[in-house]
Amino acid sequence: MTQNVLEAAGTLIIGAGLAGLFTALKLSPRPCTVLSPEPVGVGASSAWAQGGIAAAVGLGDTAEAHARDTVLAGAGLVDEDIALGVTSEGAARIFDLLDYGAPFDRDSEGRLLQSKEAAHSTNRVVRVSGDQAGRAIMDALIRTARDTPSITLLEGVVVDDLATRDGQVVGAFARQIADPMAAPIYISAQEVVLATGGIGGLYAVSTNPGRVRGQGLGMAARAGATIADTEFVQFHPTGIAVDRDPCPLATEALRGHGATLIDENGHRFMFDIDPAGELAPRDIVARAIHARTSTDRPVFLDTRQAVGAAIYEEFPTVAQYCVEAGIDPATQPIPVRPAQHYHMGGILTDARGRSSLPGLWACGEVTATGLHGANRLASNSLLEAVVFAARIAEDIAALPLTADHEATQAIPLEPPLHGPGPRQDPHEAVATLRKVMDRHLGVVRTAEGMRTALRTIAELEETHAPGSRAFLNMTTAATLIAAAALRRTESRGGHFRDDFPETDPAQAHRTLITLAQALAIRATA
Ligand SMILES: Cc1cc2nc3c(=O)[nH]c(=O)nc-3n(C[C@H](O)[C@H](O)[C@H](O)COP(=O)(O)OP(=O)(O)OC[C@H]3O[C@@H](n4cnc5c(N)ncnc54)[C@H](O)[C@@H]3O)c2cc1C
Repeated sequence: MTQNVLEAAGTLIIGAGLAGLFTALKLSPRPCTVLSPEPVGVGASSAWAQGGIAAAVGLGDTAEAHARDTVLAGAGLVDEDIALGVTSEGAARIFDLLDYGAPFDRDSEGRLLQSKEAAHSTNRVVRVSGDQAGRAIMDALIRTARDTPSITLLEGVVVDDLATRDGQVVGAFARQIADPMAAPIYISAQEVVLATGGIGGLYAVSTNPGRVRGQGLGMAARAGATIADTEFVQFHPTGIAVDRDPCPLATEALRGHGATLIDENGHRFMFDIDPAGELAPRDIVARAIHARTSTDRPVFLDTRQAVGAAIYEEFPTVAQYCVEAGIDPATQPIPVRPAQHYHMGGILTDARGRSSLPGLWACGEVTATGLHGANRLASNSLLEAVVFAARIAEDIAALPLTADHEATQAIPLEPPLHGPGPRQDPHEAVATLRKVMDRHLGVVRTAEGMRTALRTIAELEETHAPGSRAFLNMTTAATLIAAAALRRTESRGGHFRDDFPETDPAQAHRTLITLAQALAIRATA
């Protein structure tokens, strides 16, 4: 089959969320090419972030206190050096974002306003117009990126495979979304940065945009990268239960503002479970809600007293979701349920953002840097994206720039290209996979359920992956999550097992796993 070959202008960045765009801006004036399946900014979780960015920029707050909260939330698995490094660089990155035009909320004296979110010991989340942080930050970065001559934006292009030669990542295989018959394009590059976001689309109920579905994790694992902590999946306690896909989110800042969680009798049940009540760590709140909603007992987020009619002005995104579902949040409680929200696991990187594969860096939610451990502290993910983007840019900028690198001369043999003919998009198989992940790798897990999931993933892969590399990336990511979860015989952070409900101090270590190891676990499930 004919194959197009393209040499990336500079570093190749796959994905145009906050991680990808911030890397591109920090690399400037060094050239780079950013790939985005949709127009830049569309289909990225970053643009949907509501709460904001956690950073110790408030009076009396310190990087040490922020790092302590991060370590505590991470349930024993946070890399403490990484945590302190990231929280220490937070303020500088917030000033970068201000320079790029992010319109953070300020008080009358010009100081940055900060919200409180669960498990933060102080108000620490820098925000925009209540719940508009992601959209506003992304709009500012997109404008700046479009005006930056060193950045080439390629839109309408999706990547299915990394290209490797002799163990080195030398580019990627991409295709145009609009033309299913088009030949794959081999894009060669001296450095590749994967910034494809999380795994939400692997789950039937998720707050993430549908395109964000474990593609980068899957392709990096297939290329041989070491993967970490995949069993740790964060479920947001307050997805709005209105039967929409993706599931709309009611930001945690509402609970920070005093909104309560009530059952059908108006009882505030969280204090029966944890002294921190509604502001207990996310996994505890998610499980408490799941225990009710999974047995058809409704749970509501009650904003009537704490926020009232001001919700329309202070949290316009949430208010809009409610109105679209026929709910007036000023007078009615909002029905909620847990929804997959964030993946703590991902491509293992070092402190510079380098993966285990030479030539491949990774940034943002697709990574496991050690910052989140078993459970992410709220609003630490946008922070992680900008801190590591800056580090990656600095690391790459120190490398010599070769004008005409030899990668274009020899097309890599691996991975195999698509056969001729249109690519299949196995919609039914995707739907089945998402249901299986929800049911068996959700808020509460059991060995039997995870084995069933692994067998089903294997069957789906065998039948449908030969026609779709994109689906193979999904089943690969799903396999890594399920295999690591089955192997961890305890409960910790975002991984809760009914059959092992206690935390086991002997398992207080991060998970490192390769695809070969995960497939071996799957084969015996
Ligand atoms: C509703 C919601 C609210 C949130 N609120 C907050 C918050 O307040 N604070 C916080 O810190 N975090 C929040 N998060 C989490 C945070 O938004 C994400 O972790 C973060 O934005 C991830 O950034 P990213 O750049 O890694 O990925 P994304 O922003 O998801 O960008 C990934 C990019 O990769 C592209 N892509 C995917 N697959 C491919 C492929 N195969 N080929 C090419 N491109 C591809 C996507 O289209 C997209 O452009 C929230 C998440 C959601 C969903």
